[in-house]
Amino acid sequence: MTYRVTLIPGDGTGPELVEATRRVLEATGVTFDWDVQEAGADVMDKYGTPLPEVVLDSIRENKVGLKGPITTPVGTGFRSVNVAIRMALDLYANLRPARFMRGIRGPYEDVDIVVVRENTEGLYAGIEHDVIPGEAAETIRIITRKASERIVRFAFEYARANGRRKVTAVHKANILKATDGLFLSVAREVAKRYPDIAFEDRIVDNMCMQLVQRPHEYDVLVLPNLFGDIVSDLCSGLVGGLGVAPGANIGDELAVFEPVHGSAPKYAGQNKVNPTATILSGMLMLRHLGEKEAADKVQNAVAAVIAEGKDVTYDMKPTRDDPTAVGTQEMADAIIAAMDAR
Ligand code: NAD
Repeated sequence: MTYRVTLIPGDGTGPELVEATRRVLEATGVTFDWDVQEAGADVMDKYGTPLPEVVLDSIRENKVGLKGPITTPVGTGFRSVNVAIRMALDLYANLRPARFMRGIRGPYEDVDIVVVRENTEGLYAGIEHDVIPGEAAETIRIITRKASERIVRFAFEYARANGRRKVTAVHKANILKATDGLFLSVAREVAKRYPDIAFEDRIVDNMCMQLVQRPHEYDVLVLPNLFGDIVSDLCSGLVGGLGVAPGANIGDELAVFEPVHGSAPKYAGQNKVNPTATILSGMLMLRHLGEKEAADKVQNAVAAVIAEGKDVTYDMKPTRDDPTAVGTQEMADAIIAAMDAR
């Protein structure tokens, strides 16, 4: 069987990371028909928008996409293409596993946390405006029963399907009584339907401290959109950093796989950054497609290369200027060679 997949190279370091990932995925023996679609600042001139409708149509048709990061101007300019894709296609669950691999230099070993971030509302609804230009601005944070219910259900279903023990709902319901109060009360209701999985909740600021001090006590976390974005970067820092943190945006029918990290524009075109996060996002895509054997092959090969610590990028070496660090494509080559060796 050949899988037709929408492939969005993105910008900044995106195209080189997606190319490395495409090569690794093809080396598993699974065959793909890549439907390449461009989005981001570079297509503005041609289409008048950074997210042409053809890109969304392609994902709707193929049902699955693999995406490189896309730059969003800070404080001005067009709204995030990444957020727009998730919202337009109702990819409501952002799954971000943070799992320790042997060979990673980090504060802890054996951390294994899965962040489930709500992906369609909260502060990312982007409803904001100037009240008095230059003096005051306001934004609206939307939390609904429907979105809270389905994201917490997703977290419990994921926990059940993957043999996890506990779901922790993370919130700021002490201060945001209406919005996070609703999220928390819905989470408590949903938890009652899953007596086989433990449930608890934490206030987000305390959660950050707990994760830094006792990450092993946590399993699956479910959070509203902004908290999920921030806490998932924190969790990636516990297991080697953004270079190794994969992600998936999942809806009822469609899914788009992309790393947690952004476009790291200062390294664009240098064949320097770590392809692991994008390759492991591809591995999550293989699992989603039901290609378990190929997914295991990629995951084991990545683990073997990182455990050996030789053919890895600068961010995985003892110092950032280690002369033995290899480039993006060379690390992908080593992963392909490790797959072949098995
Ligand atoms: P970033 O993730 O691009 O970079 C943050 C830090 O992590 C940098 O030090 C960078 O060098 C490092 N890093 C990132 N990816 C790495 C990799 N593969 N290997 C090694 N190190 C890596 O975040 P930023 O600088 O805050 O954002 C840059 C741009 O990316 C912004 O325009 C932002 O909006 C965008 N962004 C896009 C997405 C997405 O496409 N889903 C996600 C986050 C940020």
